[in-house]
Amino acid sequence: MRLATFIQDGRWRLGAIVGDEIIDLASAHDARLGGYHLPSDMRSLLEAGPDAWSEVERTLASGDLAPFARPLTGVKLTAPIPNPSKIVAVGQNYMDHVKEQGAEIPDHPIIFTKFPTSVIGPDDEIRWDPGLTSKVDWEVELAVVIGREARRVPADRAYEYVFGYTIANDVSARDLQFADGQWVRGKSLDTFCPLGPWIVTWDEIPDPHELPLRCLVNGEVVQDSCTDQMIFQIPHLIEFLSRAFTLLPGDVILTGTPPGVGHFRTPPRYLQDGDIVTVEIEEIGALTNSCHTQAQ
Ligand code: ZN
Repeated sequence: MRLATFIQDGRWRLGAIVGDEIIDLASAHDARLGGYHLPSDMRSLLEAGPDAWSEVERTLASGDLAPFARPLTGVKLTAPIPNPSKIVAVGQNYMDHVKEQGAEIPDHPIIFTKFPTSVIGPDDEIRWDPGLTSKVDWEVELAVVIGREARRVPADRAYEYVFGYTIANDVSARDLQFADGQWVRGKSLDTFCPLGPWIVTWDEIPDPHELPLRCLVNGEVVQDSCTDQMIFQIPHLIEFLSRAFTLLPGDVILTGTPPGVGHFRTPPRYLQDGDIVTVEIEEIGALTNSCHTQAQ
């Protein structure tokens, strides 16, 4: 399944992507099946667990969904998880990206966080104050969405806790990131975590470590790699993280970025007002955002 969150009348609603249309799941469920109210947002759906997920599957199998379908072009998608309890990110997790920096291959995952207030959705603007940062960079990343509460999960059971995958742009203010001694401020500016455009459930991606991924700035390819370059793969990351803290349904893990970020180019290149950034991963889709600077 491809599950999205869209906005209607100022509220989040759950949608399923079918072709180039989006199905209003709650309306379809109420009309076709009834008896149970689907949660109105993705985090609540994930928290509700497998019984609720199978209601979504039953809805999609309930016959002609045309009465509940709208063209995707006519709806406003937000991040599929607009309100995760946390976003955990991994630095220097692509072999080719580590080599690009001339850095040592880390012997354990390098973990940081992006605050949930940084999340935006497809077509939203990445905004920053040019008086605060002038070195804003792109990072395409495969994002893992956690489906069940995970604590001390061994690697060989880790996929049982994955609900699906989406795309993230780990937008980074390099001047703040490297001036601070740790990365959280430079990674957590409002709007610096575009997520989407939807979640592809785990069953549709048999191997998340063979997905080509790319980033384009104004149509020019700046990152072009494959998730097979990941140093610490998803099962290892879930084991490592869940030994330290609980992962909750709807939590998002950003699994690192391949080479081609602006900061390590010669000369360095950063995002500018008006730039259009697209991050895309095969089998998931593409997420596009424009850049807007605003003095504050
Ligand atoms: Zn990153």
